Amino acid sequence: MLYIDGEWRGAASGSSFEVINPATGESIGDVADGTRQDAADAILAASGGFSGWSRFTAFERAEYLYRAYQLMMERKEALARLMTEEQGKPLKTARNEVQYAADFFLWYAEEAKRTYGDVLPAPRSDQRFLVIRQPVGVVAAITPWNYPVSMITRKVAPALAAGCSIVVKPAEQTPLCAMEVFNVIHDAGIPAGVANLIVTADPAPIGAEFVENPAVAKITFTGSTEVGTMLAGRAASQMKRLSLELGGHAPFIVFDDADPAYAAKGASLVKFLNTGQACISPNRIYVHKTIMEPFLAVLEERVSRLRAGNGLADDTSIGPLVDHAALEKVDHQVQDAVGHGARLHSGGHRLTDGGLDRGFFYAPTVLSGVTPEMEIYNNETFGPVAPVISFTDEVEVLALANRTTYGLAAYVYTQQLGRAMRMFEELNYGIIGVNDINPTAAAAPFGGMKHSGVGREGGREGIAEYLETKLGGFSV
Ligand code: NAP
Repeated sequence: MLYIDGEWRGAASGSSFEVINPATGESIGDVADGTRQDAADAILAASGGFSGWSRFTAFERAEYLYRAYQLMMERKEALARLMTEEQGKPLKTARNEVQYAADFFLWYAEEAKRTYGDVLPAPRSDQRFLVIRQPVGVVAAITPWNYPVSMITRKVAPALAAGCSIVVKPAEQTPLCAMEVFNVIHDAGIPAGVANLIVTADPAPIGAEFVENPAVAKITFTGSTEVGTMLAGRAASQMKRLSLELGGHAPFIVFDDADPAYAAKGASLVKFLNTGQACISPNRIYVHKTIMEPFLAVLEERVSRLRAGNGLADDTSIGPLVDHAALEKVDHQVQDAVGHGARLHSGGHRLTDGGLDRGFFYAPTVLSGVTPEMEIYNNETFGPVAPVISFTDEVEVLALANRTTYGLAAYVYTQQLGRAMRMFEELNYGIIGVNDINPTAAAAPFGGMKHSGVGREGGREGIAEYLETKLGGFSV
């Protein structure tokens, strides 16, 4: 269903599409297939919603967001189960995601009240300078399937806190999670038109409406660098404001002064999280040659303990890939690497036994001897493959780590303070984990450099993305 102007309704075309459980291949729902006309209706509703919502006080807006936080927490378990069915991640990690998603409502309920202005020294004695911050207007948001709840609240919460209205188009693989987020928004009493949802199996016409409709002041997109670049180019002709959270190709560097077992534990936890389908997932694991052996031994041992299966089962630690195309892409990268001389330590094939053939499961895979000739060395994998590369020198590994167009997340394991600080300063990435595999939270700015994006989500930076700065010069 679409949520437009405070009401649930079908698509203008009357058509719908099926939602598939990636662990079982079964249909778990049928949702309205929104059209460009529906997107235009939603933008019109958002324009109406904006005029009232932007005039609410920050304290009033904060109350609504706080209610949304409470409702999401009350519905945490149901939402997590739905996420596991629709997206495939194990229930425990789905619960973590719902918590992360709800945290954005809470954080921005608080930040709504901190969109301070400034009084500046003016150059003339009869002049006063005031700076205020105002909402940009109607926002159009596009989100991916890998984090189907939090990628929505990471945009909706700061936009609404700033006083903007919004239209969201979620990924076609995860419309049910998006609808549940909007049930929360509806039940929190957020006024009609302020937040609107278009689900669709055909994103291009919706994207076209978003970039071409003059009522949209800002586009915020999370997804691939390819689609983000295309949307940014088209949005430029109307000078729309842009926030882009795009792909990554994270280096994970383990120096010879690090504990190899601790680093391998970290690598196995963050690499296989969400079956490797995360923009901050390590994609190039650089290990100092003197500790390669113990590192690989622990990594292999931990990977051998991962249990693939339906995320609703208690013993499942790794879920399926999102669809068949993802399976093929991952397998292609692995076969290409092996064909070019990489050593396969574990995995390297699709999992089909015990009913797994009905879903899109790939065996957790460890490769060593990965080199720049291999596709996996250069492109985002988005799957459960850990490519390990040997290095000997700090300057060399820093140059290798930075030699990519991506710049989202990077990880460093070292016990030397000076080296940790050098890496933090010299790695050209927006997020650096130093002996830390989870440098994310609602209070922290998330985003990338270079082709990984523009702008930040979360933290106090996240609300600034939805605010214009206005200067007033007053003669007195
Ligand atoms: P994607 O193919 O770019 O899709 C992302 C969103 O864009 C989906 O809602 C998709 O709709 C929509 N879309 C696709 N083509 C479009 C078009 N022509 N016009 C308008 N919208 C269009 O990316 P994905 O494969 O779903 O997500 C994985 C990518 O997202 C990875 O590269 C990952 O690194 C990145 N990501 C980045 C972050 C971050 O914070 N930086 C977070 C999560 C994911 P459909 O679903 O209908 O195709």
